[in-house]
Amino acid sequence: MIACRLKDAVRPMRQLIGKIPIKGRVVVEEVYLSEQVRCRECQKTAPIGLEVVTVRKDGASKKILKRTFYCRAHAGEYESRARGEG
Ligand SMILES: [Zn+2]
Repeated sequence: MIACRLKDAVRPMRQLIGKIPIKGRVVVEEVYLSEQVRCRECQKTAPIGLEVVTVRKDGASKKILKRTFYCRAHAGEYESRARGEG
């Protein structure tokens, strides 16, 4: 079990910024600050970017519908919305 945790620790940083409820909170967009992402818009790899995970909640279970990556230049709206500023 300890070995698993150490393995997790060396993975690239991934930090939840916030969640954007859509479709009446059944579907939520989770926005993460993530390392080494390849932007969907400009196709460039950014050292720090945003990861947007569209999740559908079905009772206790969670299903990932979509996972999208953006550099920060192309993710400004997502970042501010996830932080509750938009
Ligand atoms: Zn970009």
